[in-house]
Amino acid sequence: MNKFRPIIITFLTIAVLASCSSNPYSKTNRVHKKQLKEYSKQLREFPPQQDAGAAILNFGENQAGTTNFNLRKPNFVIIHHTAQNSVEHTLSTFTLPRTQVSSHYVISRNGEVYQMLNDYYRAWHGGAGKWGNNTDLNSSSIGIELDNNGFEEFSPAMIYSLLDLLKVLKERHNIPDANFIGHSDIAPSRKVDPNPTFPWKLLAEEGFGLWYDEEVAAPEIIIDGRPGVRLEIPAEGREITSAEPADTTTTTFQGVDPELALRIIGYDTSNLEAAIKAFKLHFIQSEIDTNLTEQDLKILDNLYRKYM
Ligand SMILES: [Zn+2]
Repeated sequence: MNKFRPIIITFLTIAVLASCSSNPYSKTNRVHKKQLKEYSKQLREFPPQQDAGAAILNFGENQAGTTNFNLRKPNFVIIHHTAQNSVEHTLSTFTLPRTQVSSHYVISRNGEVYQMLNDYYRAWHGGAGKWGNNTDLNSSSIGIELDNNGFEEFSPAMIYSLLDLLKVLKERHNIPDANFIGHSDIAPSRKVDPNPTFPWKLLAEEGFGLWYDEEVAAPEIIIDGRPGVRLEIPAEGREITSAEPADTTTTTFQGVDPELALRIIGYDTSNLEAAIKAFKLHFIQSEIDTNLTEQDLKILDNLYRKYM
């Protein structure tokens, strides 16, 4: 027998006891592991158990399991604010079975990242929602909860950690730029997170989500507190003759049908007013109402083309 073995065992026992006594989640971690075991048992079943609906299927004579497969990958990231006052509160909420809510990651105000679930499992963060024709976002997304009471700004430490996490997830699962969205985007009638101070533009600049071209949908120029005039300069060396159609930059804006544009972006427009508010929460981030100004329409017109 290895003479170091009793020492190693003693050391491990102390380490396990120490971690149990210091981690307030050791009990729910055991429940978590038990559930993982149950699901892995289900995944190992071959041939897989069939439900009652499959009884009508005309199966072939020989069972033949393919040799060519891997795990399914999430293709969206849904960002939330917790609407709670501390990360401890959220970790506790997500470890109480009666709440029936969870997410893959929680990021604290100090920028600590808590991973609560393997990316390959389905967390319960989206609830009833829709994006494009996707009606089960929980099955296809990673949920990230940001420790924020719903009204405050997001701390820089938290945003830096979020950007690091998004980079890892994007590379790991090959998630497209357009598929980094907010909870309010997929559930406009029910949700208002993340709050309007969330830096969507900064995220889009890093490749997480899309943003409009600010020079196309130029915000109103304010000079000395009053609206200024934007000068239109004709392209150099280009003579405009009467046979040519008018330069589009000088025509008044012809808005796209807002409902169609919102639907192309992904919004569920069954409640159009809610969809407009969700759009404004994400892309306008002020005066989050059901009114689309000419400026908002320009932004919408510029954006929907990027989602096509
Ligand atoms: Zn949420």
